[in-house]
Amino acid sequence: MIDLRSDTLTSPTTQMREVMAQAAVGDDVYGEDPTVNRLEEFAAQLLGMQAALYVSSGTQSNLLGIMAHCGRGDEYIVAQAAHTYRLEGGGAAVLGGIQPQPLDLQADGTFDLDVVAANIKPDNFHFAKTRLLCLENTHAGISLSLDYMQAARSLCDKYSIGLHLDGARFFNAAIDRQLTPKQLAAPFDSISICLSKGLGAPVGSILLGSKEFIKESRRLRKMVGGGMRQAGIIAAGGLHVLTHNIDRLIEDHRNAATIAHTLGELFDHSQVRQATNMVHLDIDPETYKRLRKHLFAHDIKVDRPRWVMHLDVDDADVTRLVSVLQEFSEL
Ligand SMILES: *Cc1c(COP(=O)(O)O)cnc(C)c1O
Repeated sequence: MIDLRSDTLTSPTTQMREVMAQAAVGDDVYGEDPTVNRLEEFAAQLLGMQAALYVSSGTQSNLLGIMAHCGRGDEYIVAQAAHTYRLEGGGAAVLGGIQPQPLDLQADGTFDLDVVAANIKPDNFHFAKTRLLCLENTHAGISLSLDYMQAARSLCDKYSIGLHLDGARFFNAAIDRQLTPKQLAAPFDSISICLSKGLGAPVGSILLGSKEFIKESRRLRKMVGGGMRQAGIIAAGGLHVLTHNIDRLIEDHRNAATIAHTLGELFDHSQVRQATNMVHLDIDPETYKRLRKHLFAHDIKVDRPRWVMHLDVDDADVTRLVSVLQEFSEL
């Protein structure tokens, strides 16, 4: 089965399972799990941030990040379509009493920063206090330019607000923009990265920021029940993917391009958009339904017309997918 529904659907490799089975562990709530500590130090060094915190999911990582930046009655500016607004159960509002100020993104996945500025509330008791701007990179596969992120940084400096990055697919963005992790991380006060997307770890995300910020996030992690004990078992998988699977993400981008090209021939190139490891298809729903059935009959699983490449989709899979797609044109 080739499963393109999401890049969360990977299974740990045999090598990864072995590393996990052998992992040295301790009680991480005591700060004594050597593997978790190594993972956090490794990630902090890789991104050039002061400190890092291993957490159960990207949702928890973003939640802790927003709560560490904002208090009750504060506000964060976020995209309407951002994960941190639409897809995290309203956690910041529910658990932090933090109000989102959602704004539309432009077609290229960026905010109009003038619109952001106009939505930063003046210091007046009628308004919530705007404390934070959240960006997402990649967003629907689209990577952000360094210029844009630096412009967002300048804006945040001007208004003395924080800048958080939901970097669930941080390394896809770095590779796409040919930036080092440190260059991509530099504009941000805090960053969340997912280990369990295309990198292929079974569990976990990492929140990064200043020492003080991570200290506060650690307290919040305990509060939401996210303190884990011998977490080295799963953290070992995370460390493994950070040391083995970053460079290969470029293969996912190449595979997405190959599949997008095939789809473009099958339909029309204007109906297909590839961005990093994702392919978006804009065809009429009936045809898409037929295509989905055709693929499923050949052991290829997709759901919505967004197909995602990952660790478990190799060259042979792409070759097979291309020929199955080409058969569809002949129906
Ligand atoms: C997957 C994802 C998250 C959250 O990750 P979970 O581990 O599923 O909670 C956050 N942001 C983006 C953009 C994501 O794609």
